[in-house]
Amino acid sequence: MKIVSLAYGKFPSVSQLHQNFQPGVKRLRVTLDLVDSVEYKNNFSHIYNQLLSIMPTLAKHKCCENWSGRQGSSALAPKLTSGIPIKKMGDMSDYAHLIEHVIIDLQCHIGDMKICSGITCGYQFPKYRFDLFVECNDKKIGVFTANLAVYLIEYLRENQSLPSNSLYLIDLARYLTETRQTRLSSDSLARKLGWKEEIVSWALEKLRELHFFNNSKLSKAKV
Ligand SMILES: [Zn+2]
Repeated sequence: MKIVSLAYGKFPSVSQLHQNFQPGVKRLRVTLDLVDSVEYKNNFSHIYNQLLSIMPTLAKHKCCENWSGRQGSSALAPKLTSGIPIKKMGDMSDYAHLIEHVIIDLQCHIGDMKICSGITCGYQFPKYRFDLFVECNDKKIGVFTANLAVYLIEYLRENQSLPSNSLYLIDLARYLTETRQTRLSSDSLARKLGWKEEIVSWALEKLRELHFFNNSKLSKAKV
């Protein structure tokens, strides 16, 4: 799975697709290519539950107000699957939709957004391509969280478990965003945070890789 493009703007054409979209709030558009496979379908619940271990607020998301709108024919309306508060279709669109929710969750946690809504739109052609539109107050945080969401889910798909220090990665991004720090040395951060220096070094390197720093050109990470 990979991000093929990122764009930031108003995208008025999707305003009507979600009743909770807030007027005046800009959106990040993430265009995503997935790969269709049986393995995807079988792994979905496991991947979702792994993500819950580092972002428990995912379980509190309310889903898919847009399904009751103009797309809401009964043929398309997804059914709730027990234990999973985001709606499941049983095909690869579940992964696009999950990434949308992970971006929302990460933006609220790292960028301190209070309310954030998004929608996932599938292409008719190619079928593996999706546009996610997610409300976004801060382009830089939006781009980073999109890269991080894809990184975590792709890692989970390949390894069945999260990178061992994922929570540190999220916490460091939040800390650096809150404190607006720009001069970064892993030893001083390690002292301030009380973490092992090798963990801080790893997390800083991963933040760079996922374009946490200097992503003004809407760069995208390859995973
Ligand atoms: Zn949803």
